[in-house]
Amino acid sequence: MCGIVGYIGTKDSKEILLKGLEKLEYRGYDSAGIAVMNGNGVHVFKEKGRIANLRTSVDTEVLANTGIGHTRWATHGVPSRVNAHPHQSTSSRFTLVHNGVIENYDLLKREYLKDVSLISDTDTEVIVELLELFVGEGLKVEEAFRKTLTLLKGSYALALLDDQNNETIFVAKNKSPLLIGLGEGFNVVASDAMAMIQVTNQFVELTDKEIVIVQKDSVTIKNLSGETIS
Ligand code: GLU
Repeated sequence: MCGIVGYIGTKDSKEILLKGLEKLEYRGYDSAGIAVMNGNGVHVFKEKGRIANLRTSVDTEVLANTGIGHTRWATHGVPSRVNAHPHQSTSSRFTLVHNGVIENYDLLKREYLKDVSLISDTDTEVIVELLELFVGEGLKVEEAFRKTLTLLKGSYALALLDDQNNETIFVAKNKSPLLIGLGEGFNVVASDAMAMIQVTNQFVELTDKEIVIVQKDSVTIKNLSGETIS
C-alpha cells in the first residue's frame, strides 16, 4: 500500500511533502510525485522509482505554499513516469493524487469520456477528467467533486488541487485511509500520521464518502449532499 501527503500553509511545501513521502516508503511503491501550487499554476514533478529520483527532478527554484504528494503502487498500468501520480486534467486545471482502485473506471470512461484522450493507463485519470467535464458543464468545483464521487465504485483516498483556487486542497476517501493533521496557520493531509508527525501531532481521521475542504486556517467537512458536518 502506498501513500498520500498534502500541505497548505505559509512555508514552502516541497521539502515537507518529500520528507512526508520518505516516511511512507516502508509501505512500498514503484513511483512517486508531487504537485505544488503558488499562483503561477501548478508544477508537477514525478518519477518512476525511488523518492531519491524524484528529489533530483524537483525544481528547487519553485516556491509554493500548497502541495500534494503520492507514492504509487501500480494497479492500472505499468510503473512508469506517465502513469505516476499526480495526474492532471486535459486543461491542466485540476491535479489529483489517488490511492486505491476504481472498479468501474472503464464504464465511466465509455459513458462520460468518449471524446477525451487519456494519456495514462490509470483508473485515476478518469476521476480528474470527470471533474473537469462536470465543471465544464457548469458545476462549481465542489459540486463537481461531489458528483464525481457519487459515480465512483471502489476504494480511494484523493487529494485534489484546482489551479484557480490557491487556498484549498480538496480531499475525500472511501475504504482507503486518510487523515487531516491540524496545525497553527497550516494543515496537512496524510495516509499515515507518521508522514506528518514532524509538523503536527494532532490528527483527525476522515469518514468514508465525505469531502473535506482543507485551507491553511480551516478544515470543513461536508457530506455528498453538500451539508457541513461538525
Ligand atoms: N489505481 C491507481 C494507479 O494504478 C492508484 C494506485 C495506488 O494506490 O497507488 O495508479
